[in-house]
Amino acid sequence: MEISKTNRMVLILSALLVVLVLTIALFRDNAKTIDATTAESLIKESLVTHAVIDGPYLYFSSGGTRYKIPKDAINLKTLYQTTPVTIKEPNPYVADILTIIVLILLVLYILRWAKKNRELKEQHMSEQIELAHELQKPAHIRPIISTITFKDVAGIDDVKEELEEIIDFLKHPKKYKNFGIRMPRGVLLVGPPGVGKTLIAKAVAGEAGVPFFYQSGASFVQIYVGMGAKRVRELFKRAKAMAPAIVFIDEIDAVGKARGGMRNDEREATLNQLLTEMDGFEDSSGVIVIAATNKIEMLDDALLRPGRFDRRVFVSLPNKEERKSILQIYLANKPHHLNLDDVAQMTVGFSGAALSSLVNEAAIHALKSGKKIIEIEEFLAVKDKVLLGKRKILTYSDEEKRIQAIYQSAKAVTAYWLDIEFEKIGLLSDNFQSSEKEIVSKTEMMNRIKVYLAGDMMMQMYYHEHFTNAANDLKEARLLAQEMVENYGMGERFHADITDVEKILESAKQDIEGFVARMEEAILQLADEILQREVVTKHDVKEMLHDLF
Ligand code: ADP
Repeated sequence: MEISKTNRMVLILSALLVVLVLTIALFRDNAKTIDATTAESLIKESLVTHAVIDGPYLYFSSGGTRYKIPKDAINLKTLYQTTPVTIKEPNPYVADILTIIVLILLVLYILRWAKKNRELKEQHMSEQIELAHELQKPAHIRPIISTITFKDVAGIDDVKEELEEIIDFLKHPKKYKNFGIRMPRGVLLVGPPGVGKTLIAKAVAGEAGVPFFYQSGASFVQIYVGMGAKRVRELFKRAKAMAPAIVFIDEIDAVGKARGGMRNDEREATLNQLLTEMDGFEDSSGVIVIAATNKIEMLDDALLRPGRFDRRVFVSLPNKEERKSILQIYLANKPHHLNLDDVAQMTVGFSGAALSSLVNEAAIHALKSGKKIIEIEEFLAVKDKVLLGKRKILTYSDEEKRIQAIYQSAKAVTAYWLDIEFEKIGLLSDNFQSSEKEIVSKTEMMNRIKVYLAGDMMMQMYYHEHFTNAANDLKEARLLAQEMVENYGMGERFHADITDVEKILESAKQDIEGFVARMEEAILQLADEILQREVVTKHDVKEMLHDLF
C-alpha cells in the first residue's frame, strides 16, 4: 500500500517535470544575437524578407538562421522602408498559464489523494467493524490473527519444508487455481503432546498471513446432541467467508475415533459433518484444515481417505540437536552460564513444551536462590519437578513413601540388570530413556516390559498385595506388548491376537518374579537409599550392587 502510494507520487512529479522541460524547450529563444553592422548589411542587401519586433528585440531569419538584435541598436526607420515588420504584442500570460496548469494538476492530485485516503480509512473502519462483529461471535468461529512464524518454532526443519507449499498456496491461491493444481484440503500433524503441533499450525497461519480458526475436537462433542454438527457447519461457513484461512482442529481423535465398538451418535454426526464440509470444498476455496492427533491409528479410515487428510506430517520428540535449538529460544532472553550440550543431554524424552517449562522453572529457582545467572545446578534441581510434579510427594504418608520406595527400587535394580538406560530414579520419577536406536530387538522390548512389571511383582512378593501406584506402569507394559504383537509380529501368530498380548505379559511376569525374589535384599537396601535421598543415580545402583555381589 505504502509503496504504491510513493510510486504514484514519483510518477506525477516526473510527469510535471516533463511538461516543464517541454515548455521551456518550446519557448526557448534560440535566435542568434548579431551585431548592428551585420544586421544592417543583411537588411540592406534585402536578404531579410520579414522581421518581428518582440519586446526589446528584433527577430528575423536569413539563410535559414534566426537572428536577434536589441531593437534600439539599429535604425528602425531604414528597416520599415525595406522590410515588412510585425510588431508582436507581448504575451505576459504564457508563464501564468503554465503556473496555473501546474497548480490545477497539483490540486487535482491532492484531491485524488485525499479521496483515496478517505476510502482507505473507510475500508479500515469497516474492517474494524467487521472485526468487532467477529469478536461478538461465539469463540469457536472467531479467528485469531497469528503473529507466530517459523522463527518461533525450533528444530523442525523437515516439517517446515513440508509445509512451505501449503503456505505459498494460502498466499497465492489464484496462482494454483490458474494452473489447475489441486491443493490438499487437510494436513494431519501426528505426534505426542507438547511437541509443538499447535505452534506449527499457528506458524503456518502467521507465515501466510491468514486468519486462524482454532477448535479442539473434544469441544465439538462435549455439547448437547446436534450441536457438534452445527458448530462444524458454522465454523466452515466463517472460514470460507474469510478465505484464505486455516481451520485447526486439535485432538481430532475426539471426533474422528474409529467407529465401531461403543456407538456415539453425537460424535458420528459431527464427524459426518466434518467429512461433508471437506468434500464440499472447491479446490480453490482457500481453506485448509490442519488437524492434530497423537494417535493416528485410532482415527476413522474415512478421515484418512484421499481428498481429506491426505498430507500427514509426523512431528516427533526432539532429538539432542533439536532440544538444543529449542533451549536456545527459551534461554535467549535469560542470563545464563550453561553448556547447552549438557542440558540437551540430560533432557532425553523432553518435549518442546517440557523444555520450555524446564527453562522457566530453572529461572525461578535461580531467582529464589538469589543468583544472577542460571547454571546447570538449577536445571538439575528442577528437572524432576518438571517431569512429574515432584511436589506431590509431600502428601504421601510415611507408609506410602516406603511402599513407593520399594516399588521404585525394584524397577531400578531390574533396569540396571537388564540394561535399560536411565540416569536417576526417584520416589516419583523414573524416566527410562526411550531407545534412540532405529531398530529395537524383541529382547529389549521384553526387558522394558519386565522393568514396568518389576514394582508390582515386588509388592506381591513383599506385601502379598497389589497397589494402585502400579497403574501407570501396568498400562505402559500392556501398550508395549500390544505394539509388539500388532506392529512387529512378535506374537505367536502373524495375525494380531489379544491372547498373544496376554502371553507376552505373562511370560515377562514369570521371569521377573524369580528375579525380584533373588534380588530382594538389594532391592530393600536401595529402597532405603531412595527414602533417604529421594533420588538415586544409575551409578549409585551400580556401586551398591557391586558391593553386595
Ligand atoms: P502440541 O500441540 O503438540 O501439544 P503445542 O504446540 O501446544 O504442542 O506446544 C506447547 C508449547 O510448547 C508451545 O506453545 C511452545 O511454547 C512449546 N514448544 C513446543 N514445541 C516447540 C518447538 N519445537 N519450538 C519452540 N517451542 C516449542
